[in-house]
Amino acid sequence: PHPEKKLGVALVGLGNYATRQLAPALQQTEHCQLVGIVTGTPSKAETWKKQYNIPEQNVYNYDNFDQIRNNPDIDIVYVVLPNSMHAEFSIRAAKAGKHVICEKPMALNVKECEQMIAACQTAKVQLGVGYRLYYDPYHLEIRRLGTQKVHGSVKTVESSLGFSMADPKVWRLNKALGGGGAIMDLGVYCIQGARRTVGELPNAVTAQGFVHDEKVFKDIYEMVMFQMEFPGGAVSNSTTTYSSYVDRLHVTSGYQWYGLQPSYNATGAQGETFEGKLNYQTPEFQQIKQMDAFAQDVLNQRAPEASGMEGMIDLKIIEAIVKAAQTGKRVQL
Ligand code: NDP
Repeated sequence: PHPEKKLGVALVGLGNYATRQLAPALQQTEHCQLVGIVTGTPSKAETWKKQYNIPEQNVYNYDNFDQIRNNPDIDIVYVVLPNSMHAEFSIRAAKAGKHVICEKPMALNVKECEQMIAACQTAKVQLGVGYRLYYDPYHLEIRRLGTQKVHGSVKTVESSLGFSMADPKVWRLNKALGGGGAIMDLGVYCIQGARRTVGELPNAVTAQGFVHDEKVFKDIYEMVMFQMEFPGGAVSNSTTTYSSYVDRLHVTSGYQWYGLQPSYNATGAQGETFEGKLNYQTPEFQQIKQMDAFAQDVLNQRAPEASGMEGMIDLKIIEAIVKAAQTGKRVQL
């Protein structure tokens, strides 16, 4: 790789997140740029070609995608598809010799994560997860306060994310495509907020699942509340829900407290501690730092901070949470 050259990124799946966040963010990155697209919708291909000056030879569909291996313009493939398609397209990208960044949740289960990690190792390409908050200054500050015990050890964490999602037609409510509703979609944020603030991995979880609207939530939980116990004594409590807006991270250590609200939304965090407001200059899109960090990791041949291993850790915890909700038992990790 040439350090002076921007790495070429191809987005796979031109839905809401790719359109509203990733493509605009990639116009402002220093080390990578949007040069290719993979889409099943020909009309989107036409719009994007014009809007982002993408040449015809850098446009693929889901069938001819594997030919991307012959395209030297594209260094990084970014998978932004429904969750059930993450593993397949990440593995196909790795086999085509491209570095892979995959949206969250990394896959439907730990087994798929293992297959993705193995495929990227075999192909000697980097694997990252689209954990934009790993690079956000508000989240990094809460993490510093917690892991460095600036106000003493963390005792409790409340870490919750939810919004209203009641349209049965969307893939997020389809178990096969989404993998299991709010806990799959939003759980990764609640988990990473808590475990990265404590600086430990949980050793046990308990969980409760709820469904109120059985017409909409046929085979998935509408809401999952869960608790994580950490080896050092901290305990976290989380709500993931598709029926109400909640978005916050709140940390206590004795009489001291700090937190973020909103915390996890892509519109940006705001924070406060018992001593006053947190105030950081943040770029227009969180994904700018995320993508520049990934590009630099690729150029320096090192695993990203938000690696495939990190994505797999959260899936492992989600699997335990779902088991705990289904059985009503405390599940050890
Ligand atoms: P959308 O439904 O808006 O977009 C998904 C796109 O995938 C579609 O537009 C379509 O693109 C393609 N696609 C291919 N097959 C299917 C199918 N069977 N059903 C539906 N779409 C299909 O989803 P989002 O953009 O909101 O989410 C995409 C991914 O990004 C998810 O994994 C989600 O969790 C993640 N995400 C991450 C966020 C973050 O902050 N990190 C925020 C939002 C989402 P085309 O027409 O081009 O083929």
